[in-house]
Amino acid sequence: MAEPRDGAASGSIMAEPRDGPGPRAFLDETVRIFKETYPGSEPTIAVAAPGRVNLIGEHTDYNQGYVLPMALPMVTLVVGCVTTDGIISLCTLAKEADDPKYVEFPVASEGNVLTPGLPKWANYVKGVVQYYRAGPLPGFKAVTASNVPLGGGLSSSASLEVAIYTFLQQICPDDGDLVEKALACQKAEHTFSFVPCGIMDQFISVMGIAGHALLIDCRSLEVTPVPISDPSLVILITNSNIRHHLTGSEYPARRQQCLEAAKALGEESLRDVSMAELKAAKASLDAEVYRRAHHVISEIKRTTEAAEALKSRNYREFGKLMVQSHNSLRDDYNVSCRELDELVAAAMDGDGVYGSRMTGGGFGGCTVTLLEATAVEKTMQRIKDKYSGTPAFYITTPSRGAHVLQL
Ligand code: ADP
Ligand code: MG
Repeated sequence: MAEPRDGAASGSIMAEPRDGPGPRAFLDETVRIFKETYPGSEPTIAVAAPGRVNLIGEHTDYNQGYVLPMALPMVTLVVGCVTTDGIISLCTLAKEADDPKYVEFPVASEGNVLTPGLPKWANYVKGVVQYYRAGPLPGFKAVTASNVPLGGGLSSSASLEVAIYTFLQQICPDDGDLVEKALACQKAEHTFSFVPCGIMDQFISVMGIAGHALLIDCRSLEVTPVPISDPSLVILITNSNIRHHLTGSEYPARRQQCLEAAKALGEESLRDVSMAELKAAKASLDAEVYRRAHHVISEIKRTTEAAEALKSRNYREFGKLMVQSHNSLRDDYNVSCRELDELVAAAMDGDGVYGSRMTGGGFGGCTVTLLEATAVEKTMQRIKDKYSGTPAFYITTPSRGAHVLQL
């Protein structure tokens, strides 16, 4: 079969989103594979949900702070049809997903509570089915395909959850509440995949607006769209193509330290702690816990300042804040790594680049760079030359959230 997405795309300099087929061809190919997988069945529903890149506001969502992500043109597709037998049949085309790639399980009901198991990838799906906000669900047959790189920090997991939820909305409509939709998908990730993630990934995959980043207040869940469609500007994602296996244990550990800091300062979350209060309490806090809190409190402030800078098209200021964010993640939060530091340093070492930082949870994955369109080719070449590994590049535009596709 023609690949619905490219593999590692090692070192290639390519146009957005990846060098796989364009959106229509990607859908057509997924439809073709559906028909091959389920002979005699016709797909009647197709939905897409995007991955995301976070421009600034890292590790702030679970501290009730601000984040500034945008939805990507890379999406997870679900193509399928409803059945009446109460059975869900799903096949993933993602090569990196664990085996088997095909699963069958009965829909959730009072008498059948779904639980996580193997393969791991199906847990994201089962969780969403379990927490879906309407019912009873009929069954369905479907194929899912993604051109979001799996495990690359661009939130393929949330895009899978949100795509499945959006598919379920087509076969058994819920009340259409988008905040509740994002929360149900987050709950699926928490309890079926055991990742205590914040709300950012699911929220932006649901709510993304073309041409905009979204400033999300993760306490009130209020969203402020910030236009980012200046044609002279490019948002470049660089994939380090490495992933250190630290995220699993380090992420909950950071979360715990943040809670500890907030508690020591008499607050529910670090959102309610000012930098002055933190500094005043320095002597009474464990040095590492202090640094973690220092990152979070400074990052929340940087994120609101960055949104203002973007609104007023002050890209120089925005870029400065991106670099400060990276340095804080590296030095205070300790979630960067040599490869990400190399990519940021290489990006910044030339003209026309406003800012660059690691994006996502850290320990590998991607960097995001804001630069002038005229500087893109040179910058990608410089990163390729200087990076000790093999990068992949995605030139991206802010895209819309989950949606139904015409077949
Ligand atoms: P990220 O969300 O940054 O891509 P995660 O580790 O949170 O990284 O999620 C990656 C996991 O999500 C994969 O290992 C796989 O289990 C699951 N996943 C994501 N997209 C798909 C897909 N299209 N098909 C099957 N599994 C997927
Ligand atoms: Mg994820």
